[in-house]
Amino acid sequence: MENFDIHILGCGSALPTTRHNPSSQVVALRGKIYMVDCGEGTQLQMRRSKLNFNRLGHIFLSHLHGDHCFGLLGLISTFGLLGRTTDLHIHAPAEYEPLLQAQLDFFCQRISFKVVFHPVDTTVYACIHEDRTARVYSLPLKHRVPCCGFLFQETPSLPHIRRDMIDFYGIPHHQINNIKNGLDWTDEEGNLIPNARLTVPAAPPRSYAYCSDTLYLPSLTGYLKDVDLLYHEATFDKTFLQRAEETGHSTAGQAALLARECNARRLCIGHFSARYNDENILLEEARQIFPDTILARENLILTISAKKI
Ligand SMILES: [Zn+2]
Ligand SMILES: [Zn+2]
Repeated sequence: MENFDIHILGCGSALPTTRHNPSSQVVALRGKIYMVDCGEGTQLQMRRSKLNFNRLGHIFLSHLHGDHCFGLLGLISTFGLLGRTTDLHIHAPAEYEPLLQAQLDFFCQRISFKVVFHPVDTTVYACIHEDRTARVYSLPLKHRVPCCGFLFQETPSLPHIRRDMIDFYGIPHHQINNIKNGLDWTDEEGNLIPNARLTVPAAPPRSYAYCSDTLYLPSLTGYLKDVDLLYHEATFDKTFLQRAEETGHSTAGQAALLARECNARRLCIGHFSARYNDENILLEEARQIFPDTILARENLILTISAKKI
């Protein structure tokens, strides 16, 4: 089973501090990397993470607040200086396209690659990207401006071949692909060998959800059922519930409630308000409701392990 890792590059909220970078993370799966949000300083964090810039093909922006997108132009400019040639795809709310284009026209006239913009409708749950590695869905969130989260679902793997059975029935090698794709085998005497005897099912596909920035939204539960890892903003502790509601954010307890309601395997909370010098108060609040919670921090790598069959 190949790695499915989330690299946290930044998990602070609006105000950058010496403790936290603004929001950004990278989802690394089967050798590909996808970026979610790109706050100021993201490219430096990416260098620290030792991730390969060339593998990044798609960047998903949740919304147009600076702490989620101010780093993008710098990143694109650096890609230009590094001589990138492959297309870079940006998935973001439609209002961003003219803003980005104006900046590219002014600052990045000579870049040697194409920036391809894909508008995202933040009001619906929809598949917004699909490749051989993963499917990415938009998750409608509720914030002060149009905003969506993202659900990454690993593309299902083909079943594993049982070598012992292939040898036992003398199945020629050129038939292995057919068997991986589900065909049964008929031997020379006309006996049908069912596919299930020749293969072992692959581990179920894994999933990861990113929900930031948002009010507590129980309606997400339907989209996030049994998600392997949920990253949810927890800007405030419960004593700031009213402030959370006014600003379109969640408390740590609310993040935990959603994790419990959708039966997540694990919860990682982030997007911490700069008022906290120690986020353990948020961690404790969340763990009372959903024990399998951890705090995000810069340069943390979260690995999503295989599910048991
Ligand atoms: Zn934010
Ligand atoms: Zn915001």
